[in-house]
Amino acid sequence: MVEPQTTDRSAKAALLPAPTEVDAPFWAGLHEGELRLQRCTACQFYQYPPETFCYECGSTALEWKVANGLGTVYSFITVHQRYHAAFVDDLPYNVSIVELDEGPRILSNVIGMPSESVTVGMRVQASPRPLTEEQSALYFERAEG
Ligand SMILES: [Zn+2]
Repeated sequence: MVEPQTTDRSAKAALLPAPTEVDAPFWAGLHEGELRLQRCTACQFYQYPPETFCYECGSTALEWKVANGLGTVYSFITVHQRYHAAFVDDLPYNVSIVELDEGPRILSNVIGMPSESVTVGMRVQASPRPLTEEQSALYFERAEG
């Protein structure tokens, strides 16, 4: 079997998020350039990923709030190995856990700089990017200042 050596566009399309009733506002927000998080109106806890109840107190009184988009790199790796045909052209790429100012940690990529320049503790800013005409994904870039 011959492995594809370039990005397989159909492979990338197969990886597009499939929003559910619970997380649709998150994905819609990204496509509008906003990072939206669920917040519990009972205990004010912000959470990610979206759920039908509060992870902290169990309340189902959740609302969507626009996050400030800022966070700190909690941990990261640089991927050098080809694990999926969809990401061959992106190698090497960064996979980071970003701790948002609101509290939740989110798995994403820090882009716009060489992966080896990313550091734990670096301040980053959400930077949603379109994947298709209907969907966007969350990336982060180094925060200004
Ligand atoms: Zn709560």
